[in-house]
Amino acid sequence: MSARDRGSFAGDTHVGLVRSGNEDAFLLAPPLFAVADGLGGHQAGEVASSIAIDTLLEAAPRQADAKALGRAARRANAAVIDAARTGKGRSGMGTTITAAMLDGTRVALAHVGDSRAYLLHLGQLQQLTQDHSMVADLVREGRLTPDEARVHPNRSVITRALGSDPDMMADTFEVDAASGDRLLLATDGLTGLVPDAEIERILGAAPTPQDAVDTLIDAALDAGGHDNVTVVVTDIGKPAHRRGGRAPGGPRWGIRLLWLVALVAVVAAAAWAAHSYARSQAYLVDEGGYVALYEGVPGSFAGITLNWRSEVTTVPVDALDTITAMRLRSGIRFDGLSDARARVDEYRTRISAETTPAPSP
Ligand code: CA
Repeated sequence: MSARDRGSFAGDTHVGLVRSGNEDAFLLAPPLFAVADGLGGHQAGEVASSIAIDTLLEAAPRQADAKALGRAARRANAAVIDAARTGKGRSGMGTTITAAMLDGTRVALAHVGDSRAYLLHLGQLQQLTQDHSMVADLVREGRLTPDEARVHPNRSVITRALGSDPDMMADTFEVDAASGDRLLLATDGLTGLVPDAEIERILGAAPTPQDAVDTLIDAALDAGGHDNVTVVVTDIGKPAHRRGGRAPGGPRWGIRLLWLVALVAVVAAAAWAAHSYARSQAYLVDEGGYVALYEGVPGSFAGITLNWRSEVTTVPVDALDTITAMRLRSGIRFDGLSDARARVDEYRTRISAETTPAPSP
């Protein structure tokens, strides 16, 4: 199976350098894309992955709705189980499936097994799916590093697949990508052989999705090609994928919302800390020629002022010495209002001492 460049998306599969047959399958039916990695041997894996892809396409929702896409994956699961039962393929056959449906920059995903979806956003690769595999569980538990998982003897043992459990549930979720992001779907024939950093570099450097697909498959072959390798790449936000009436620049949920929530929390925490600090401070400043007393700190940070006027005293600035008068222009700071008030009282005493005529002898 092969599909050449259609502009904003591309996909291809390669048998690799070791296996005799290709049990992978993929789907390019914009806005729906998928990869599947069949298991079972003796052509049964090939039957399972192609039944899964065909059923997914038939059962796919009209809209990019992750829950509905998950239901399509369940239909595909039932179809694989049925096929084994009726003698098409073999019992024990199964397949992974990683499906993505686009609506503008929104991506709905349904996923079972150890094929993967990744998003390249601003040159950075993020793995969107979590592998349903034994080594992924060990990595999550901190018992293996991702590099150790890649070469672990049981790396291909998956804990969830289509074709065995009638009650199987797919992971379903939606992410909000940005225009210019690149979505990658791939079987473990790529991700088990080519490190994420290399995938990131290739995806970021390739001028078109087709170049990315070709270069990624070449990288898997260069790394030994000991598995079937399947890669689908689609550029996000290209007009070919737009369907339905969702306006560009509309509400963006998912990843961006999480970042926004995190950012707001950080800013709020910083603002609260700054506010608390400011409330413990005070300063005196020249305001219209008189010494004014403020709670807070003079000036502003990032456009936010953190000061509150307490009172403008009757102490004239020009009655004070020139150094104090000069310092009052930018504000003289104190640790709290009472210290500042005490200084005002000092000014009053100083002025009255200077202006009170010395008693006549
Ligand atoms: Ca595989």
